[in-house]
Amino acid sequence: MKESFLKTHLLPQMAFFTMGMPRNGSISVDITSRCNLRCKHCYYFNFNNEEVTTELSDIEWQEKLIKLKKRSLFSHSCTFVGGEPLIRKELVRKLTRYFRYNLVVTNGSITLPYWKDVFFHVSVDGTEEVHDEIRNQKGLYQKIKQNICENARDMHITIVTCLTNENKHCIEELVRDWLDKTPTQGFIFDFYTPSINDDKDRFVIPHAERDKIIDQMVELRKKYGNFITIPADVYDLMRSGNYKKVVKNCIFRRRCGAFDSMGNKKPKCVLGGSANCDLCGCIVPYYLHFRLNKKFIVSEVKKSLKTLLQGKYIYL
Ligand code: SF4
Ligand code: SF4
Repeated sequence: MKESFLKTHLLPQMAFFTMGMPRNGSISVDITSRCNLRCKHCYYFNFNNEEVTTELSDIEWQEKLIKLKKRSLFSHSCTFVGGEPLIRKELVRKLTRYFRYNLVVTNGSITLPYWKDVFFHVSVDGTEEVHDEIRNQKGLYQKIKQNICENARDMHITIVTCLTNENKHCIEELVRDWLDKTPTQGFIFDFYTPSINDDKDRFVIPHAERDKIIDQMVELRKKYGNFITIPADVYDLMRSGNYKKVVKNCIFRRRCGAFDSMGNKKPKCVLGGSANCDLCGCIVPYYLHFRLNKKFIVSEVKKSLKTLLQGKYIYL
């Protein structure tokens, strides 16, 4: 079935253009507090979240999301995180029907469900040896590859790598190990964000060094094209001279909502109340900042108009 140009392209873009990011237009939910892994750099279990060991029941989540949707006219996207969201696969599937755009962030260790309408971010934090060491799970890297190759043909799969001092040396080798060998659409690289309570966190890459890695990222995008999925303009916003204007007014913190496994709103973002915004390496606020730029919105409308004229959408 063809998409509607008006409902799914023009109206949302006009809303972004005139009002900016609609409140709760984009939310994230910790659908479970459980995870089958214990990674060394996990914000969920390290940022004082050990006490959140309970979670809403299926029916309570359903009611929670219905209420949220009623309060926000433009509630169009939901990111399912955790813990490991695929531990509650059936529930996630039920809840995806409330949103136009659904994203599941998974560690890739559980069989991927064949959901072609859902976007998946699979975390892979380094080449085989590095990844399995960080995740405390020997053999996991190959298991993830196999999972994607066997179960995720024709699906929207992106690999997400959180850069730390432990994996920053193997970026290109990692990209080459997935390019053309698996049905993945590409890589998103972002940086590890520490907690405000730990100023000696060994995983953190300081700003000056991030700048060099961003240079590398821009070069990799020239070499591998859209397989490095984040545009250079977004990475530029993460540079030491630019990041402050983004994190000071973080759009996610002001306009989106992150909910813990009990359905309570988190104070800042998905990373929780103790995330150190000054060292924020999460790609989301930078991407939103870029995405809400008016010039970008106009260019997106022009692109979808062209597609309408080619007959790929219906108007209404
Ligand atoms: S897979 Fe994700 S939620 Fe689970 S321990 Fe690792 S980083 Fe934390
Ligand atoms: S850590 Fe990043 S995403 Fe979270 S509130 Fe701070 S700036 Fe925003």
